[in-house]
Amino acid sequence: MIKTYKVMLLPNNKQTTKLFECAGVARWAYNWALEQQQTKVKKVEKKLKRLQRKLSKKYELNKTHTQGGEYRYRKTKNIKKLELLVLKTYRRLKNIRRNYIHQITTSLARTKPEYVVMEDLNTCGMLKNRKLSKAIQEQVFHEFKRQMEYKCAWNKIQFILADRYYPSSKTCSRCYSIKDKLSLAERTFICDDCGYEIDRDLNASINLQRYGKSIVQH
Ligand SMILES: [Zn+2]
Repeated sequence: MIKTYKVMLLPNNKQTTKLFECAGVARWAYNWALEQQQTKVKKVEKKLKRLQRKLSKKYELNKTHTQGGEYRYRKTKNIKKLELLVLKTYRRLKNIRRNYIHQITTSLARTKPEYVVMEDLNTCGMLKNRKLSKAIQEQVFHEFKRQMEYKCAWNKIQFILADRYYPSSKTCSRCYSIKDKLSLAERTFICDDCGYEIDRDLNASINLQRYGKSIVQH
């Protein structure tokens, strides 16, 4: 019996993740994980932005022209203090994110599925989260993957990374026909061929489960 999970996170729950056994499927939705802790993160992000704005303003105020026509930036005590504060706030934000990813990956590994299938950076619907810059999304993705991979190894769970061109979202999990186009806004998958209607992530999850099953080693 293959034990796998689709992961969903409860909107009002700070720390726990709830695992739904759903067609024996695992799709690691790291961006759900992100959304989950938004309040805490948002506050720090806001603070960080404010500080960075303040810092660049201070830089502007203290710049001088050199003879060559270039700018020189003078670092005042105030600027140094502010820079330190920016750095500290940035680290705090990074820590909050990292800790949260730890909570998720740990709870996932604890369910001891036979294998975990994770999608590649480009295919897992990263752009869904427009609030985060691409660089940060990539950071979060790699951290999630890194943690998931070693926690799987610890727990003797096979870790499978799906090929980046595998069309998990565009494939109908009922009749296997592949859609030409599926925008990220379409949260429900509707098959053009057989008319099957299913939640987008669940559909992709079922496909990924099969994908994993086909290459899993026994
Ligand atoms: Zn179909």
